[in-house]
Amino acid sequence: MAGQTDMKLIKNGVRLDGRKPDELREVKIVAGVLDNADGSCYLEWGNNKVYAGVFGPMECHPRHKQKADRAIVQARYTMAPFSVNDRKRPGYDRRSTEISYIASQAFERVVMVEEFPKASIRVDMQVVEAHAGTRCAAITAASVALADAGIPMRDMIPACASGKVNDVVVLDLNKEEDNYGQADLPLAIIPSTGEVVLLQLDGHLTPDEFEQAMDLATSGCMDLYEKMRNALDNRYGGSA
Ligand code: ADP
Repeated sequence: MAGQTDMKLIKNGVRLDGRKPDELREVKIVAGVLDNADGSCYLEWGNNKVYAGVFGPMECHPRHKQKADRAIVQARYTMAPFSVNDRKRPGYDRRSTEISYIASQAFERVVMVEEFPKASIRVDMQVVEAHAGTRCAAITAASVALADAGIPMRDMIPACASGKVNDVVVLDLNKEEDNYGQADLPLAIIPSTGEVVLLQLDGHLTPDEFEQAMDLATSGCMDLYEKMRNALDNRYGGSA
């Protein structure tokens, strides 16, 4: 998010990738793609490609992290070295630590953690191609993987960003818009209650723009939610 720019990102109401301001990039979600995880998902969102794998509930290690009355969700977000233009240094950095933490917090709001005292549910999110919006893509994929693993949950969490480019509030920023836009607002919600479980804001929005951006991101989340449910229906023949 570089802030103000002279770069023309919207011409006559059309974005560089041909979308209208309120349009999502193409999304494809497939549940149950990994043999070695208890639950999994592959998600393509525009040019983003993300795998999520879920393990557990299992005994929580290290033991000092155990909670006597509930499970904890240990989510881990990583970007592959080949996921971005310049080879990314493998492993954990400040950004992936932050995203892992906020994702864990969000999942603990929907997973019925009270059913599994002292346990851990591990959620691994691996970005293999990144073109902006990967935290939302990873959280969305991991929600489907949690459901695919049969982990008891109150609901799934779709996540979608909105933002501002060339003074226009838009849905689902692409890479150029993320780099040269004015604001980026990732949101994750619990659709059945409308609760917000993740909200971040990079850049500046007026109160009116903020409201508009929240409305757009919420409608993006609801569109995704349907696609997530369809992915589970496709795997389980409508019984999910
Ligand atoms: P998000 O992917 O959730 O939008 P950011 O706003 O932090 O998260 O990042 C935006 C985009 O910047 C990423 O999707 C990715 O394309 C790119 N990016 C992030 N980290 C790196 C990195 N270490 N090297 C190169 N590009 C990166």
